[in-house]
Amino acid sequence: MIPYSTYSYWEKEQMTGPWDYVIVGAGVTGLNAAIELKRQKPTLRVLVLEAKKSGAVASSRSAGFLCLGSPSEQMLTLEALGEAAWLHWTAAKWAGIQRLLRLLGAKSMNYKRVKAFEILPPPGVFRRSNTDMDRVAQNLQEMNTLMQRVDSQPLPFRSERKRDKAAESPLPFPYYGEPIRLKTQQGWGMDSTMALPIAFEGQVHPMVLVDSLKQYATNLGIHLLNGFPVESLGPAGEDLQDIFLDNQLIIKSKKIIICTNALTNVLLPAPQVIPQRGQVLVSAPIAGGIPERLKGNFHGDAGYLYYRNIGNDRLLLGGARNLDFQGEQTDRWAENPAITQHLTDYAIQVLGLKSEGLVWEQAWSGTMGFTPSGVPHLQALGTHRWLVAGMNGMGMALGPEMGRRVARWALAPGNVDPQKAGLLP
Ligand SMILES: Cc1cc2nc3c(=O)[nH]c(=O)nc-3n(C[C@H](O)[C@H](O)[C@H](O)COP(=O)(O)OP(=O)(O)OC[C@H]3O[C@@H](n4cnc5c(N)ncnc54)[C@H](O)[C@@H]3O)c2cc1C
Repeated sequence: MIPYSTYSYWEKEQMTGPWDYVIVGAGVTGLNAAIELKRQKPTLRVLVLEAKKSGAVASSRSAGFLCLGSPSEQMLTLEALGEAAWLHWTAAKWAGIQRLLRLLGAKSMNYKRVKAFEILPPPGVFRRSNTDMDRVAQNLQEMNTLMQRVDSQPLPFRSERKRDKAAESPLPFPYYGEPIRLKTQQGWGMDSTMALPIAFEGQVHPMVLVDSLKQYATNLGIHLLNGFPVESLGPAGEDLQDIFLDNQLIIKSKKIIICTNALTNVLLPAPQVIPQRGQVLVSAPIAGGIPERLKGNFHGDAGYLYYRNIGNDRLLLGGARNLDFQGEQTDRWAENPAITQHLTDYAIQVLGLKSEGLVWEQAWSGTMGFTPSGVPHLQALGTHRWLVAGMNGMGMALGPEMGRRVARWALAPGNVDPQKAGLLP
């Protein structure tokens, strides 16, 4: 990195501001927050500061599922959150997907609506989560009934819900279908594996999506600086707040929005956001193409494990951090060989892929941000500073809506009560 002390007068003058709003973090959440500010008030001077390449911690490293959660994942969330909060956060994910489709359009993120399933192998096999088929099946009807209310949930700062054709909304009903028994004759690895159909899910190309958001932001006149990690922030109460990149470069802004997700506690001591590594494998092209039965979005083990096709011949398989929660609680990127082995065994024993034809050509990890409550933090830190972080591994859907919400909150005159404004359940 070029030392800030060597920057020209012109460069420093432009960067240091003062800005109306500075956003810290250019993942899907931060970029959406910046876009919303400018869409609402085109005259604002908005700067986004990003430590790395935009989205390079999670957004552009994700698996590219635009989804609301698999049946068993949603069942566990319903049990944990209760009905009102479950509806609120499910509607937020749905609103995030709709927002992306409206802002960018399907083409600009390589969006495809796909068939989707949760796969449940027989009890005790490749399942660490507290779910069993009977329990999930018993809850399907209740969840489907609740899903029917998702579309009519009020959204904060929006009087009317606009729909987008590409998403074919309203949300299809029943959202979760009846269980189907899978068979080894069909190519699956073991009999007694069950599949639960999910009526709506999308796939995107995460890097194309991030690039399109950047393009959209730039076209609106938003300034984006990549490779500029914020080291610390000055006092929150001041009219013009200091943002320290180091002692050589101090940026000034009237308002600050922090969208740093997994890395939030590097900048702020609280609230707690726990980094968790997510690991992904991508196969080399499979001879003869990927079987039709494996095309689409698939979830396993209450959402901890996931897989999808990339094109016609590659399989992406990822997750399984529940194999080693402690070891995966890190923002360090590295392979966990036990997880790679678990995923490989899953591909062969459950998905029925032949070990001789299965070569992992690429592997990577990224960092997700989790909260103790399981839902994002959305907070005002004083009167001129806001935080949204902790997308709990679902930020491709949730991030666009949370970015929109935090921006609208930051634009609202006076002190808005987040509960009364519907920002939180
Ligand atoms: C392997 C993997 C697969 C995933 N798959 C999916 C999926 O299929 N579907 C889904 O919905 N979700 C998925 N997720 C989760 C999803 O990617 C995240 O929830 C989402 O990207 C979060 O977006 P964000 O903008 O809030 O955070 P990020 O994308 O992490 O963006 C935050 C940005 O802030 C920057 N930043 C942090 N600190 C500073 C600082 N001090 N100064 C300047 N910049 C800073 C970071 O560099 C980063 O770019 C996956 C995550 C991983 C890791």
